[in-house]
Order: sequence, then C-alpha cells, then structure tokens
Amino acid sequence: MSRVLGILGGGQLGLMMILESRKLGIKFLVYDEDPEAPALRVGDGRYVGDSWKELIVKSDIVTFEFEHVNPNAISEAESLGKLRPNSLTIWLKQDKIREKVFLKDHGFPVPRFMVIKAPEDMYDAFNKFGRVVFKEPQGAYDGRGQYYVMGKSDLDKVPMKFPLLAEEFVDIYKEVSVILARSKNGEVVTYPVTENYHYNGILLYSIAPAGVNEEVANEVKEIAVSLAKTLNYIGVLTIEFFITRDGEVLINEFAPRVHNSGHWTLMGAAVSQFENHVRAVLDLPLGSTELLKPAGIVNMLGVPYDENIINKILAIPGTSVWWYGKARVRPRRKMGHVNVVANDVNELKRRIGEVLSVVYGNDLDRYIPPWSRA
Ligand code: ADP
Repeated sequence: MSRVLGILGGGQLGLMMILESRKLGIKFLVYDEDPEAPALRVGDGRYVGDSWKELIVKSDIVTFEFEHVNPNAISEAESLGKLRPNSLTIWLKQDKIREKVFLKDHGFPVPRFMVIKAPEDMYDAFNKFGRVVFKEPQGAYDGRGQYYVMGKSDLDKVPMKFPLLAEEFVDIYKEVSVILARSKNGEVVTYPVTENYHYNGILLYSIAPAGVNEEVANEVKEIAVSLAKTLNYIGVLTIEFFITRDGEVLINEFAPRVHNSGHWTLMGAAVSQFENHVRAVLDLPLGSTELLKPAGIVNMLGVPYDENIINKILAIPGTSVWWYGKARVRPRRKMGHVNVVANDVNELKRRIGEVLSVVYGNDLDRYIPPWSRA
C-alpha cells in the first residue's frame, strides 16, 4: 500500500513537493482553505474549507508548506503523532520576537535586537543602534511590516503598534541560506550554500554555489546543522544568514520547510529539496545534495502569465519555467520562477541577467514595488 502524506497548505511549495515526489509511489492529500490553491490541482485528495480533520485521519504523516496554517490542524496532527516537523518550529515562526529570543537564548548568532513596548523604547533603540529596522512581529513576510529608520525623522513612519521588534540595521555584505534535510535518527544532509539577492525586501534571484569562501560556507553549515539538532527537527529546514562586511555570520531567520532559495535544487542538485523533504518525513533514505552544475533561480513576481515571455525565457540555454497557476496576480506575488543552470558561475550570472530583463524589462518597481505601496 502506498504511504499517504498529508500537506497542510496548498501553495507552490506543496505543488512542487508533489510533482517532484509522486514518482516514489506516495499518495498526497492537500488541505487549503482556498479552493483555488495551486497544489490542490495536483494532489490525490483535495481538502478545502475546514476539512483538515479528514485529511489528518487519512494521512500516515502530516507535514506543512506554510507556517501560518490553521493552528488547530497543527495541534491535532501532532497529538496523533503524525506531524513532521514538530510544532515548536511553527510556534517560533508565529512571532519574530519569539524566534529571535529563542535563537539568542540558545547561543545562535543574531543581529542585536530590542523588544519595543512603548514609544520611548523606539528612541532607546535608535540611540543604541543608530540605524534600526523595526519589524512587526506577526503576520509579516516577504519584507512586509518592516520600517527602516536611518535617521531620526524616519521614526515618524513607524506605526505605534506594540510590541515591535527593533533590530540593528546590519551592514550586509551577502545574504546566503543553508538548506538541509534531517531524518528522525539525526542524519543530516546539507545543500551547497545559496546566495540570495533581494529587491524591495523580497527574494528576486538566487545562485548556488554562493560566492563565499570555504571557511564561511562551513561556518554557516555548522550553525544550521546545530539549529536543526536543537529543534529536534525532521524534514527540510532553511536558515537565512547575513554575512556582514566584517565577515561576521548572523542568522536572519529560519523557515521550517522547503524554501524559495532552494528551488535551484530542482535542476542543479542530484535530489531536490522537495524530494528530500518528503523522504525525511517518511523515514526514507535521504538523497544526495550534490551540486551537478552551477544553478540558480529567478522569481517571477507580480507578473501575469504571458506565453510570449515564457517562450523567450525557454529560448535561453539552460532554463526551465515553473508557473504556479495562481488564480490572481498581485504586485510582488510569487507567480512562478525560472530555473537556470550553466557550466560556470559567470555564464550562470549572464543567463540570470537575460532572464531578469525578459521578465521585468527595465521596470522592476512596476512588478515589485516596495510593500508599503503594493
Ligand atoms: P521576511 O520574514 O518578511 O522575509 P526578513 O526579516 O527576512 O523578513 O527580512 C527581509 C529582508 O530585509 C532581508 O532578507 C534583508 O535583505 C532585509 N533585512 C531584514 N532585517 C535586516 C537588518 N536587521 N538589517 C539589514 N537588512 C535587513
């Protein structure tokens, strides 16, 4: 009998998890509140509205592709011993303050931060850090709910909604992420470090291998593996890092799931992050994370479906397109991505540049405006 994996959340991450792994003979059930969610189209069973209970009963194991799924579904799956990874990760991700405090308390390197509970604390943070990023702790993602204060007058832009997280503004040299898969018995495989490029606070494109030296690559991988152990983690875990101009390594945040910066593994790695997540949560042997060729992705953000553009992208050597088939397009929304591979990193960067100009022309701001104007 096929194993049955239930996925809470029906977005593109679930879609790719299914399309990458059903070849293994696994059955996938998908739950999403929204009947138009992309992964519902490709699952073996569709559960919408509030029918998550039925999905949990029918699944051998339940995982999630989105941290903000119905908390009742998470606790129900966990109480039946079916949830992987565990709910600690979700609890931490529900609140950026909770996440930062946990990381700091467990000895992981993070930017200096303060918890802001009243207007006077905002001035304290400004006086202490000089340049500050204020972040709304809940419901903010892809750069939303962030306020950059580079001078005193910027403080007026920050909403007086407390608590807020205040982080020192980090002088970032590079942003990288580590994606790893960890099994129940603690076996871990890590992918080569990925370098990430953001635009207006949202991931625009990624490249593997990252342009960092071996020492830094080993350091971020070690921190990532140690965090996975601390979380008693099963599945694919992503850790985003800032590398400062002084060579310091800081955790920005982690994601308890497959991640946008790991989409390059679909073409560039022996076994993709999606398949390795499924393998890890179902206790199957983990697959090789070896980089087959320099690989990257370009996100298609806020762009409508356009066959002409897709044809132009596919004409660039080493590319492939994943269009997620979302019902509506909105500025900044992840509508699809382009995988790119090449024989060397310079060629890869050239191809990524070509893809960027086909997708966005010269007008990134039209499709990816700052979140406050989207
Ligand atoms: P989200 O959870 O919305 O993705 P993040 O906290 O990961 O938000 O921040 C998104 C991006 O904003 C980061 O990738 C980075 O480019 C920038 N950023 C976030 N925090 C800081 C900081 N303390 N200093 C400088 N840049 C930051």
